[in-house]
Order: sequence, then structure tokens, then C-alpha cells
Amino acid sequence: MEGEKRRVVIIGGGVAGSLLAKSIQFNSNLTLIDEKEYFEIPWARWRAMVDPSFGERSVINHRDYLSNGRIVASSAIDITETEDLTAEGRLIPYDYLIIAIGHIDSVPKTRTEMLNQYQKEQNVEEDGRVFPVSNSSSTIIDCLMSEANRTGGAYSLSSVVQTGKIVRMASANGGKFLLGIRKQTTSPLEYLEAEYLLIASGNNSQGFSLASQLGHSIIDSVPSLFTFKTVRIHS
Ligand SMILES: Cc1cc2nc3c(=O)[nH]c(=O)nc-3n(C[C@H](O)[C@H](O)[C@H](O)COP(=O)(O)OP(=O)(O)OC[C@H]3O[C@@H](n4cnc5c(N)ncnc54)[C@H](O)[C@@H]3O)c2cc1C
Repeated sequence: MEGEKRRVVIIGGGVAGSLLAKSIQFNSNLTLIDEKEYFEIPWARWRAMVDPSFGERSVINHRDYLSNGRIVASSAIDITETEDLTAEGRLIPYDYLIIAIGHIDSVPKTRTEMLNQYQKEQNVEEDGRVFPVSNSSSTIIDCLMSEANRTGGAYSLSSVVQTGKIVRMASANGGKFLLGIRKQTTSPLEYLEAEYLLIASGNNSQGFSLASQLGHSIIDSVPSLFTFKTVRIHS
């Protein structure tokens, strides 16, 4: 074995597996087994969803950083003390085995398919503004509500959803917020207490009035119905 490079098999081409593979590729007889043909920076995913060009930089073919190793785009389904078995029935012998299979995620197998998926997931206007494919802003609320209901427990919003009502007054006392809400002008005020308050009433003057009641100073807003264009600086 002396002089020969050790056979290292890494299962999983995520953050841990890919970084290790890149680091040891010239000092080992390396095989990287990953279900997909690319490495994706997981925390860049949200940005890539709204800015598909970002995916071009955060989804990287394994081959682009691994010039000196074997890449097997398959699932490892079994291991023995000396070999790894892939879904296609291929046996890969090893001296050292690293299991870096992280979290389970259902994603396309190739980089091109992944980038196409990002392209499909939104409607990008010519000036770069991004909208839901439905072209309806209520989709975003539906999405947030469905996610809140799905996660349940501490993150559930469903128990405090009050639709068709207007917040008439707001006060803060002892670290808590107290809101007075009513359905119509003639309805009696109902009270709602909360530890946190987010006013998201846009340019509606009622939102400004509530913020004033809570002690904020309001500076008159000015219209800004134009789009900002910035030049991205690649580092
Ligand atoms: C959307 C998102 C945002 C995140 N944001 C942050 C952040 O801001 N900061 C932070 O520190 N962490 C963040 N994380 C967590 C971070 O990405 C993980 O901790 C990290 O990816 C774990 O790395 P890993 O290599 O162990 O596993 P993973 O990155 O999950 O990689 C596992 C790899 O194994 C492959 N695989 C799985 N099973 C098999 C099999 N049987 N055969 C072959 N291949 C297999 C998978 O295809 C995958 O490529 C985020 C995660 C997500 C999903």
C-alpha cells in the first residue's frame, strides 16, 4: 500500500462532503457519491428563488471544483466494511469512508434542471422586478398563512387571525401592546394583547395614526412609483 494513494469514498456532496472532497482530491484516490451532479449553497436558495441569476453562482457542478476525483451521481443505498453499493448496483471499494448525507431534500439531479426550476418559480419583469407566477399578491399571504398553519405550535398565526376588522387604537404598556379592533364603526371595541406588533398597513393613514399613538413621529411620505436599477458588483 506504501506509495499508493488511499481509496477514500465520500457519500454526500453537500457542504461537508464537497469541501472535504475539494481539500483531499490530490492526496487520495477519491470517489464522491452524490445523488445530484452539483453542489448547491443551501443558504443562497432563497435569493436564487427570487433572483434566478444568483443560482448561476450558487449551484456549482461537482466537476467544476473536483478535477482529480471520481464523481458518481447516484444514491448510496448500502455499505459493507469494505465497499459501498449505489442505487445502480455499482460496488465501490474503499479504505476510508465518510458519510456526509446531511438533510433530506428532493431536488433535481442536474444543475440545468435546478436552474430551470428557479426560472420557473417566478415571474420576472423586464426591469428585474419579481412577482409570483400567479401574478396575484394574495398568493403571498396565502403562502404565509399556509406555512404558519403547517408549522403549527409556536409559529401558528391561525389563532390570532382577525379579518374584516379595523384596528382603531393602539397603546403600549408594561412591555405589551394593546389593540382596540372593531368590525364596523358602530360595533363595540374588542381588545387584543400582544408582545410584538408589526404595522404593515402601507401608505394607509390609519397605520400612521396607530404608529403616532405608540409615540412615533411620522414624516410625510412622498410617492416613489419608479423602479430602482443597481449594478451588481461581482466579487
Ligand atoms: C434553505 C437553507 C438555509 C440555510 N441557511 C444556513 C445559514 O444561513 N447558515 C448556516 O450555518 N447553515 C444554514 N443552513 C444549514 C446548512 O446548509 C447545513 O447545516 C449544511 O448544509 C449541512 O451540510 P452537510 O454537508 O452535512 O449536509 P447537506 O448540505 O445536507 O448535504 C448532504 C448531501 O448528501 C446527499 N445525499 C443524501 N443522501 C445521500 C445518499 N444516500 N447517497 C448519496 N448522496 C446523498 C445530498 O444530495 C446532499 O448533497 C441552511 C440550510 C437550508 C436548507
